[in-house]
Amino acid sequence: MSNIIALVGRPNVGKSTLFNRLLQKREAIVDSVAGVTRDRHYGKSDWNGIDFTVIDTGGYVVGSEDIFEEEIRKQVELAVDEASAIIFLVDVTEGITDMDKEVSNLLRKTDKPVFLVVNKVDNAMLETEAMEFYSLGIEKYYTISGMTGSGTGDLLDDIVATF
Ligand code: GDP
Ligand code: MG
Repeated sequence: MSNIIALVGRPNVGKSTLFNRLLQKREAIVDSVAGVTRDRHYGKSDWNGIDFTVIDTGGYVVGSEDIFEEEIRKQVELAVDEASAIIFLVDVTEGITDMDKEVSNLLRKTDKPVFLVVNKVDNAMLETEAMEFYSLGIEKYYTISGMTGSGTGDLLDDIVATF
């Protein structure tokens, strides 16, 4: 497979909402990977005439802090292995969390394109708040609302340009 976009980020940032939006009305395939504690959702779509696959590495084991961190590390590793491009999703309404910083550090090791995407920017006022994400040390970020779809076109323009 090629042209794979992986969605990475801590729980509740809006990965599944964005996944569904990127797929539009297309069908997702749920794949239970042996030995992996969660399902991964794959979906196909296209943008600017370029076909791509999206992976939502979704579910988590609910448990101790350690298990949680281990899960996130696995999620990021899988994404980095399989993806052609990675969407690192964060949530403007929560701001930067410790878990965002961890994901950010893990992603620093890959040479695949990483797109920092600030989600839940549902209105213009939240655009200003998104600026705090510069402190994650990534030069550029995108603001979107997975709920309304705003900003996703510009993001996809830049992602498919790397394929
Ligand atoms: P995931 O855990 O990262 O897959 O996050 P979900 O997609 O399940 O979303 C978590 C919560 O955030 C849900 O209640 C969504 O409705 C909400 N959400 C997702 N995207 C947006 C958005 O763009 N704006 C707002 N206001 N809420 C959103
Ligand atoms: Mg989810």
